[in-house]
Amino acid sequence: MTPWADGVGGVQANVPIAPLTTYKLGGPAAWLVEVGSDRHLDEVLEAIPQDVDVLVLGRGSNLVVADRGFDGLVMRLVGDFVAIEVAPDGTIHAGGAAALPRVARAAAAAGRCDLEFYAGIPGSVGGAVMMNAGGHGSDTAEHLIAASIVDLRSGARSERTAQELALGYRRSNLRPEQIVTAARFSTTPCSRGAAEARIREITRWRKEHQPGGTFNAGSVFKNPHDDAAGRLIEEAGLKGFRCGGVAVSEMHANFFVADDDASAQDVWDLVSAVRRRVAEATGVWLTPEVRFAGEFDERSGDSTEPETTA
Ligand SMILES: Cc1cc2nc3c(=O)[nH]c(=O)nc-3n(C[C@H](O)[C@H](O)[C@H](O)COP(=O)(O)OP(=O)(O)OC[C@H]3O[C@@H](n4cnc5c(N)ncnc54)[C@H](O)[C@@H]3O)c2cc1C
Repeated sequence: MTPWADGVGGVQANVPIAPLTTYKLGGPAAWLVEVGSDRHLDEVLEAIPQDVDVLVLGRGSNLVVADRGFDGLVMRLVGDFVAIEVAPDGTIHAGGAAALPRVARAAAAAGRCDLEFYAGIPGSVGGAVMMNAGGHGSDTAEHLIAASIVDLRSGARSERTAQELALGYRRSNLRPEQIVTAARFSTTPCSRGAAEARIREITRWRKEHQPGGTFNAGSVFKNPHDDAAGRLIEEAGLKGFRCGGVAVSEMHANFFVADDDASAQDVWDLVSAVRRRVAEATGVWLTPEVRFAGEFDERSGDSTEPETTA
């Protein structure tokens, strides 16, 4: 462990990250710190040198970490940051690490509607703000009042609205070194029964149409304007197409599912190969929604690489 990490509460060296992601792939983090409170965050902020790369990890449901791992500090919120509260006016206050399905259920149990769509998204509040997560006709931008952001380089804290975060389709203006520690969401009153029925409907729809929450990271590509990435992948004849241990799902072509023997590089290679083949077949270059962290080998012959997160 480097001297900077000595004495900083909870920093661990050489920690496997795969179990903390839905793909269950990839190598270790040089350092991992699980931050459980604002005080702990302040302590870590004081110690991080400016030249250490930082990766904020939520529930790892949109992330592929390279097989060589991440040569920097992975920071994950836990403890106080998983809390969810429903205020008397119906505003939902959630920590950056709160699981989205729990946010949906807490709102529903309090007779508040609008966040049911989170029931089908296995991410965290912080990841949802970063990605403007959405589905079932709604997205984070529509209900976010403000998010609390801490800049891990400068220590600056700010509150930003959806507009100030420039939330667009699966994007925000947050930088990799900015961490969402909390968010507030607006809701509308409704009956608990109606909200819970909507959650059951969303969960059933997901089971019928998507290949489950493990060994994949949800939609691999963003949908192009007025089209669906899955449809284009199917049109290119790529359902079932594979690179090593990762294959295009037969159930939903925009999900790439990993076998037991898959590597993170297989995901990268499949994303690169599918992009190229879809472009050749349809003329559309798809944009990856999945984030990659660490170093991958460019060996598929594609000229444009998938987007990296850090
Ligand atoms: C089965 C399945 C279904 C899915 N369905 C959907 C869907 O319908 N709609 C949808 O939008 N997404 C979907 N996803 C993708 C994913 O769940 C979302 O993108 C989610 O918002 C990611 O949250 P996370 O906490 O897992 O983020 P991670 O995967 O851990 O990280 C994703 C990005 O967010 C950043 N990040 C994470 N936490 C924070 C934080 N606290 N502060 C700042 N940055 C942070 C990371 O650095 C990274 O750049 C699905 C994934 C799976 C596996």
